[in-house]
Amino acid sequence: KPSIVWFRDDLRVRDNPALRAAVDDGAAVALYVLDEESPGIRPHGGAAKWWLHHSLLALREDLDALGIPLLLRRGPAAEVVQKTTTAVGAGALFWNRRYGEVERTIDAGIKGWAVEAGLHVESFQATLLHEPWKVSTKTGTQYKVFTPFWKAVSAQEFREPLPLPARGHGFTGTLPRYDSLESWQLLPTKPDWSGGLAARWTPGSAAGHARLKEFVGNGLDSYSEGRNRPDTDGSSSLSPYLRWGELSPFEVWQAISSKRSESATIFASELGWREFCWHQYFHNPTLATANLRSEFDRFPWAWPGASVGASAGASAGDDGRHPGHESAPEELRAWQKGRTGFPLVDAGQRQLWETGWMHNRVRMVAASFLVKNLGIHWQLGEQWFWDTLVDADPASNPANWQWVAGSGADASPFFRIFNPEAQRVRFDPQGKYIAQWIPEFGTPDYPAEIVDLKASRQDALDAYKELREVH
Ligand code: FAD
Repeated sequence: KPSIVWFRDDLRVRDNPALRAAVDDGAAVALYVLDEESPGIRPHGGAAKWWLHHSLLALREDLDALGIPLLLRRGPAAEVVQKTTTAVGAGALFWNRRYGEVERTIDAGIKGWAVEAGLHVESFQATLLHEPWKVSTKTGTQYKVFTPFWKAVSAQEFREPLPLPARGHGFTGTLPRYDSLESWQLLPTKPDWSGGLAARWTPGSAAGHARLKEFVGNGLDSYSEGRNRPDTDGSSSLSPYLRWGELSPFEVWQAISSKRSESATIFASELGWREFCWHQYFHNPTLATANLRSEFDRFPWAWPGASVGASAGASAGDDGRHPGHESAPEELRAWQKGRTGFPLVDAGQRQLWETGWMHNRVRMVAASFLVKNLGIHWQLGEQWFWDTLVDADPASNPANWQWVAGSGADASPFFRIFNPEAQRVRFDPQGKYIAQWIPEFGTPDYPAEIVDLKASRQDALDAYKELREVH
């Protein structure tokens, strides 16, 4: 009997233990489910859909080379997986584990059904270097501080990446008729705003590996400095490949493990932050919708997340890219479109809009500005990033927003308020980054500052002080 390998956040054929098990088991059929219907599932944002489309094309090619067909089906995962398994007459079901609560509940339900139906079902670790339930503090609780967490995790021996499976026997039965990728309409059409994304990125494993090789060969040595400079290509740009599982963290780990430099250690710890974000998300499934530190529930936001609502967060344009956003406050719109009058914030937001990615230093500055200078709830920023980032990640995005806002685990203290002007001078000293993204900078066309930095900073500090005193 054939087996099904169900692809999720692991869109690769190398270092893919579930695929490997399916191939070893005999003829394999691959399945990807676009699930926007299961209760509690967070649908992908626009930029993520664009990436997913191209990533699935690349995966299909890689699977073709192994003689494995890829079936695509839209619908609630539990229903689709059961139907497909039955239609193919599969005897086994394999997948790599995912870590969100909603997803784990779905997977547990499918597993229960499969076992009862007499199928062999098996899951594997592929997406994280650590299994969140296997790493805990001495008192048996989740880690809330990064340094001891990473010390504990990085002390483990990580497995070697698995090689590409050999070309299998090939599936010879009749496949059920399933969806065409085009019918999912993941790509934007009217308007097609994806030109900048396509110019910047090549989704898929092969491009991920090429980027990894290039970075380890030419970028890693200067990473400790380069990573802070938005005007250079100093960070790895691997985030979307890791997000979609086109590269596995074990592959990235292996690529850097023989390097013994300060830069390599810092880079490794960034992978650690990715793990830490997932650790938090595993233990706090409401990471995107609730403050980890509950005293922040009483923070007097100028625009509270909950009352404006999800659709307003994803809301920039008058260009039809994100309909249904007219209720967004003016300051939020200015921030989204890179028209705040603060060049580093604006350059970052324009880079994000154009390419689906923003440099980490600028993400921190832009997020701090939204939350602390504009007084807008971090959830609205999180929702905007969710919609516009190609690496939009269910754990890293909310965890980092809460880190900036001060409401998260091991967070940057609230009173640490980035000064976007000082950051610009320090990290874009020649103004190259600004010039790249704001051609009208220094002309009358560039907008005036929408907020007084000093006064808004003081307002934020006063509000925080009050919160602490009441607490
Ligand atoms: P590098 O500096 O080369 O780092 C290597 C890898 O480590 C990254 O690819 C990423 O997988 C991981 N990493 C690095 N920094 C972090 C971090 N702070 N948290 C978690 N993982 C990290 N990253 C995402 O992958 N998805 C998100 O949705 C996301 N949202 C963010 C929102 C805010 C407000 C902030 C401040 C940061 C966010 N980050 C997110 C983290 C970080 O900005 C990106 O991972 C990084 O900019 C990606 O570029 P890079 O691959 O060149 O990173």
